[in-house]
Amino acid sequence: MRCPFCGAHDTKVVDSRLVSEGAQVRRRRTCNVCNERFTSFEVAELQMPRLIKSDGSRVPFDEEKMRNGILKSIEKRPVSMEEIETSISRIKEKMQATGERELPSMWLGEAVMDELQSLDQVAYVRFASVYRSFKDISEFRDEIERLEKSEKNKLLASKETR
Ligand SMILES: [Zn+2]
Repeated sequence: MRCPFCGAHDTKVVDSRLVSEGAQVRRRRTCNVCNERFTSFEVAELQMPRLIKSDGSRVPFDEEKMRNGILKSIEKRPVSMEEIETSISRIKEKMQATGERELPSMWLGEAVMDELQSLDQVAYVRFASVYRSFKDISEFRDEIERLEKSEKNKLLASKETR
């Protein structure tokens, strides 16, 4: 870190401790050129990564827009608001866990699909059909067939355990 007094790049950390119940790291630094001391604080960045659209343009992450997309796909399905909110926080945590400042919007689409897949299969297909914008109807049909098969397998599995 550059010295705020003389601008030298040659500074060193002499002490480092957690403050604000561990939410911040406070570092005492000293400049090797002018010997001035200064303090720096390190906090986790809570800003959400921006999204890179397929045309290369960058847009801020819009939680409301994502929520509306999820709500639309979940319309008239047996999924509670609480489950949806839990999924939304999980998606946001995942976004932050990447440590990236920018993510392809497709990444977010996939993350939403992962969540929907475990919430409700119908909602998942609705959302996937829009987000992946299936190249043709056969691709969409393949996805439905794949889901039907996995549903059948689930039913078989549950029958076997009875
Ligand atoms: Zn200095």
